[in-house]
Amino acid sequence: MSGLVRLGAAEIAGRVARGEVSAEEVARAFLDRAGALDAQVGAFLDLRPERTLEQARAVDRARRAGQTPPSLAGVPVAVKDVLNVEGWPTTCGSRVLEGYAPPYTATAVERLLAAGAVVLGKTNMDEFAMGSSTENSAYRPTRNPWDLARVPGGSSGGSAAAVAAAMAPAALGTDTGGSVRQPAALCGVVGLKPTYGRVSRYGLVAFASSLDQVGTLARSVEDVALLSSALFGHDPRDATSAQAPPTAPLAGDDGGRGLRGLRLGVPWAALAEGVAPGVMASFRAALEVCVREGAELVDVALPHVRHAIAAYYVVATAEASSNLARYDGVRYGLRAEGAPDLARLYGETRDRGFGAEVKRRILLGTFVLSAGYHEAYYVAAQKVRTLIRRDFEEAFARCAAVALPTTPGTAFRLGERTADPLQMYLADVFTVPANLAGLPGLSLPCGLVDGLPAGLQLLGRPFDEDTLLRAGHAFQGVTTHHRLSPPAFS
Ligand code: GLN
Repeated sequence: MSGLVRLGAAEIAGRVARGEVSAEEVARAFLDRAGALDAQVGAFLDLRPERTLEQARAVDRARRAGQTPPSLAGVPVAVKDVLNVEGWPTTCGSRVLEGYAPPYTATAVERLLAAGAVVLGKTNMDEFAMGSSTENSAYRPTRNPWDLARVPGGSSGGSAAAVAAAMAPAALGTDTGGSVRQPAALCGVVGLKPTYGRVSRYGLVAFASSLDQVGTLARSVEDVALLSSALFGHDPRDATSAQAPPTAPLAGDDGGRGLRGLRLGVPWAALAEGVAPGVMASFRAALEVCVREGAELVDVALPHVRHAIAAYYVVATAEASSNLARYDGVRYGLRAEGAPDLARLYGETRDRGFGAEVKRRILLGTFVLSAGYHEAYYVAAQKVRTLIRRDFEEAFARCAAVALPTTPGTAFRLGERTADPLQMYLADVFTVPANLAGLPGLSLPCGLVDGLPAGLQLLGRPFDEDTLLRAGHAFQGVTTHHRLSPPAFS
């Protein structure tokens, strides 16, 4: 197997820029590896080698023509199948979108392409990003490269597994309630969910529009920062896209600045129960590293986060029930042919096209929005959301970042939680607060528990991804967790 697949995004871009390797050779190395190994993992829904190689050759031609190499020259990026890429189908892991070919490319992907990246393939996901294990994909489950009997997390499980198995150096995911950070943690890679509004949602198929955010996965914080610099920025085509100054978080950073003097809030009360002992031990060990490197720990309260799961599953399902009304067999994908009238065409298309979890969410979301229940559930959940945001505002008056485990446990077995949706939802307990409050969150590997990865999560003030990335970069400068690879895929 080619050694090129061991390189990170920054190293690839550097070597391609210097002409030491061509973008085409790099793309071929990852395509070969994915072709050889993905039957075991199931990370990709769609590989189109000719398209990928075509993009790579264009990068090589531009370099030979003397153009200044862009920041991501020749970096292959795996793209979650919820983001539109012209020339590739978008399925969102759903039967209802079967056969849908988007006529345009998502801004997030376009920005990476403009920076010289190439699309490696579309990755598997829970249907419409609803789930925490990638088992809700209508096509197949994805397996965790650390243990093929276990889930990679979700809903961006394909993206996380592709990076963990070195089938891609970097990937795009989306995070509505943890779907970048949770699979990153369970697969032992880095994942960043930026501040709400930081990355354009144009061309991202909507799940819950007030929570959805595009994020990146890679093996190092440095690579996540590099991709973020290309991705962040205002987009007039997304009404919620923010006018925030661009950043170069690690520019001139030797790794020394990130943790020195950093005030790190830890919500000890929220961690008092429900966290697996091994995960808690790796979290404490990670905090010790931060303190040794000059961080100062402060106790923060976050009293309302214990209601975050309940509020999230009301707000997210309400928005989903509205967003998913458009899949009626008329404009996109699947159509139930032969229905005798329009109402039955709609109904049968949706009945055949949606899986069980999506139907459950649509029913729940319609219920919490309906007359008589709207006040009791939807409005109440919005109030809880405000309280959670205020909790964080108070915490950030005393610290620059909040630290907590990304997930309460490590990767669970396939099938273990599919019969009990509530157990599945509880996997998100530490990730949904950031979405409800719109905050940036970074997950980075902080060790193995019985051979399975655990994640350290850092949450920051709105638009302060830089503090998280610098801290994470400093952490990786003095630890080796992120250099471990799954034994069966090393
Ligand atoms: N697991 C959560 C859910 O099922 C989060 C999903 C996501 O972030 N897309 O809703």
